[in-house]
Amino acid sequence: MPTLTCVSCGKTYPLATGLRCSCCNEPLEIRYESLKPPARIKDEPCFITRNANIFPWSDLRPELSLGEGATPLLEAPNLQQETGLNFLYLKNETANPTWSFKDRGTALGVQAAVRFGLRAIGTVSSGNMAASIAAYAARAGLAAYIFVQENMPAVKIEPIAIYNPCLYRGIGDYGQLYFNALRWGEKHGIYFISSDNPFRVEGQKTVAFEILDQLNYQQLDYIIMPVSSGGNMAGVIKAVEEMEKMGLIKTAPQVIGVQAEGCCPIYKAAAEGKDQIEHFGQPNTIARAISNPIPPSGNRILRKVQQGRARIVAVSEKEILAAQSFLAHQEGLFVQPAGAVPVAAIRKLAREGSLKPSDKIAAILTGSGLKDTSVLAQHRLKFNQVPVDKLEQALC
Ligand SMILES: *Cc1c(COP(=O)(O)O)cnc(C)c1O
Ligand SMILES: [Zn+2]
Repeated sequence: MPTLTCVSCGKTYPLATGLRCSCCNEPLEIRYESLKPPARIKDEPCFITRNANIFPWSDLRPELSLGEGATPLLEAPNLQQETGLNFLYLKNETANPTWSFKDRGTALGVQAAVRFGLRAIGTVSSGNMAASIAAYAARAGLAAYIFVQENMPAVKIEPIAIYNPCLYRGIGDYGQLYFNALRWGEKHGIYFISSDNPFRVEGQKTVAFEILDQLNYQQLDYIIMPVSSGGNMAGVIKAVEEMEKMGLIKTAPQVIGVQAEGCCPIYKAAAEGKDQIEHFGQPNTIARAISNPIPPSGNRILRKVQQGRARIVAVSEKEILAAQSFLAHQEGLFVQPAGAVPVAAIRKLAREGSLKPSDKIAAILTGSGLKDTSVLAQHRLKFNQVPVDKLEQALC
């Protein structure tokens, strides 16, 4: 039987709704006695069925899926030309049912909730997580309890509200709201599928399995991705370690996590050689989806950095905006600022010479540009206004 194991002290727990270790308050992860490879994308289109071998249960309910995963892995000819890197791939996670990678984790989290007999799931979120939880709860006939911050504008709340969850805009201290929500969850049987919920992490590890599947398990040197709470990156590191253990690949790619300079608690702790994350203070970045100042899986990522499995870099606001435009102008991909940070990092690392032309690199574009249109004002986009009878002369 798989177990829940503390990522820090190794204490094991039965597979149940526990989220963190009772001794050290670090996250729990699922460990298996033995692992088998997932089916290939070309052989099995359904996310749930295809990945049954790398999930804790094999008898899952495919009808609860919304068609997540199997997103395109695109070559990036113009980014290659600009950076001089010869092997660059972009994993387009905006092609998921609610337009971000969160759906992979929610898909398995919902399976866990149903299996544990719970009637309600919940999250505290300011965007992608909330939409994903609300959508999958609707599909599974579960209630969804969603807590958002007091300053969240209606244009961002409405695309969550459309799924009809129980949605609360908490007035007052957001940190307080988070801890209250977890307490109420335990008391009222609401299963919180937060960023590093062990089942969410198992669902999210599929993105790395897919990238290697799409590359026919050929050598890959780096996977580059944004990191905030650390849940998604923990899943990707777990996946490459499992693939290496199973012999699907010879050497696991190194995972490079990217933070915004305006909120980079993991980068800061790694650069200062610390083994504990400290609260970053007031986040200040346009990449709002990666602005967690006290990442719950930060220490876990730091340990992987110390083991050489992972590395953390930080990019500036200017570099993030430039990467977002570059992806739209040059590759036809409109991602949100958080989704553009890996490309900002690739351009920076290539310029500095820390990525070599022969390195094989995949970047994960985590969420759609339509999720955060407020940033568009900063691009000063232009269009021409012309009388209809003067249009032909105005053509440029
Ligand atoms: C949630 C999110 C992230 C960060 O993932 P973590 O698991 O919190 O590290 C990055 N990009 C987008 C678009 C997200 O929605
Ligand atoms: Zn522990």
